[in-house]
Amino acid sequence: MPEYVNVLGLFHTTRKTLYVGGAAIVAILIVIIGLSVGLSNSSATSDTYSGSQALTTAPLIDGHNDLPYNLYALLNNKLSEFNFSANLENDSVWGTTACSSCFTDLPRLQTGKVGGQFWVAYTSCSSQYKDSVQLTLRQIDVIKRLINNYPENLTLVTNAADIETTWSSGKIASLIGVEGGHSMDSSLAILRLYYELGARYLTLTHSCNTPWADASPATGSPVYNLTEFGQTIVWEMNRLGMMVDLSHVSHNVMREVLAITKAPVIFSHSSAYTLCDHYRNVPDDVLDLVKENDGIVMVNFYSGFVNCNDSRNATIDDVVDHINYIRNRIGATHVGIGADYDGVSSMPTGLEDVSKYPDLFDRLYNNLDDEPSWTNEDLENLAGRNLIRVFTAIEEVSTSLASESPYEDIIDIQELGNAQEAENLTAGACQTAIEWNDYEQSTTTVTTITTDAESTTTVNASAVSARR
Ligand SMILES: [Zn+2]
Repeated sequence: MPEYVNVLGLFHTTRKTLYVGGAAIVAILIVIIGLSVGLSNSSATSDTYSGSQALTTAPLIDGHNDLPYNLYALLNNKLSEFNFSANLENDSVWGTTACSSCFTDLPRLQTGKVGGQFWVAYTSCSSQYKDSVQLTLRQIDVIKRLINNYPENLTLVTNAADIETTWSSGKIASLIGVEGGHSMDSSLAILRLYYELGARYLTLTHSCNTPWADASPATGSPVYNLTEFGQTIVWEMNRLGMMVDLSHVSHNVMREVLAITKAPVIFSHSSAYTLCDHYRNVPDDVLDLVKENDGIVMVNFYSGFVNCNDSRNATIDDVVDHINYIRNRIGATHVGIGADYDGVSSMPTGLEDVSKYPDLFDRLYNNLDDEPSWTNEDLENLAGRNLIRVFTAIEEVSTSLASESPYEDIIDIQELGNAQEAENLTAGACQTAIEWNDYEQSTTTVTTITTDAESTTTVNASAVSARR
């Protein structure tokens, strides 16, 4: 059992002894000792400690919530039709019955003791090479308007220090993450402007490859990994102080980024591959690299990522297993929470919506015999202090690089064109930037196309062979 139970038991017994009166001085001394032990951990001053009390002494920061995408999908971002301050559990649009991926509203966030939330600006991979930048900007806009609509409850936060002060004032520190490298359309200029708009992480890919990094489904073959331009993107993010998020990238890209990044990385919403061998999860060797890198894996609750056993439903215990697995492998200072509410349609029994986080912390504290004991400090770290440490370190790296100029690299236009061809697009058809003047279709494509049907196959083959 966790250590606090013994401390509290001593305190409780001692207080009774006082009433007996015979050894009052000794008893008082014991009480003082008990309290001084308790000072190392404020929760120990109560004899009803539960793990979720850690959420009153440290902010719970969730790495990934897709409510903004639901606002787009259900309301085309018309916030006038959205009542965030109501409990929406039984709402005709947002309720559990009407919407299988809706889990979030302010009352339930408050019940869930959420102190910080990364709201995600996401647009689907089908927008890549098309209107991904415009759609991402719309999502950043709707996040900011949502925050502005609820000033008593939400505050936009763009640096590590403000998370805890915002949470201390009773508001949810609201951060912006951009999910998917396709959102920056292979342009460092767009990346920098996302940062200026307040985005503090970029997930390098979603489920589609970008021209410079493979997405997680590419774990098999062929793999292209991280290109030279992809490396430059990582270094520019290091320079800016923007978190590099490796959820969704291929396992090889995880390894390649960890080999070259100058700052700690995050996984905003991923779980442990050894427990559930879904390619979205993090393999052991990468976990070890995250420890070396002093980064963090924020555990995803999605049923399909925490339980690979189709014969039963996922439960809160599966999430506990993933958290404990990562903790046992690389330590309690490298694990966090990135539930993925509103981004998926199936959450484990016991973690049905954003009101349930306290139950998870209570459950971790009440560990089974074969599970690690969680102290209040461990639980505070898991809740949010680990993320704040990582974010602070990323800011420090940025400060140390302050004398460096922004990278001015333009992606190799042949690489970009080949990637577009691989998507069966006519390379450069929708682009007017001057670098496209230098683009040459591959000779294979030009010389062998005879019919539309053949061209698709030929172009794909030539495009793939030209990539690394
Ligand atoms: Zn995701």
